[in-house]
Amino acid sequence: MLSCREVVNDADQLLDGELHWRQRLSIRFHLLICHNCRRYVRQLRMLIFAIPYMHQRASDEEVSIIMAGIVSSEKSDA
Ligand SMILES: [Zn+2]
Repeated sequence: MLSCREVVNDADQLLDGELHWRQRLSIRFHLLICHNCRRYVRQLRMLIFAIPYMHQRASDEEVSIIMAGIVSSEKSDA
């Protein structure tokens, strides 16, 4: 099984769809049982989503969408 460090190192490639299916499967299996890596990958995904908006002021609607995502993410981790 992959270590947490290996998952963290490959997480950006996972989200970019650059990994071989066997690597993706190994990471997905790790994410099933590791709460911390699941949270890390989820936060990285949200960061990648937010990057295009970082150079401009967010609208109230965009802030609401991001905050709802954070709240829902925290609830699913509980
Ligand atoms: Zn882990």
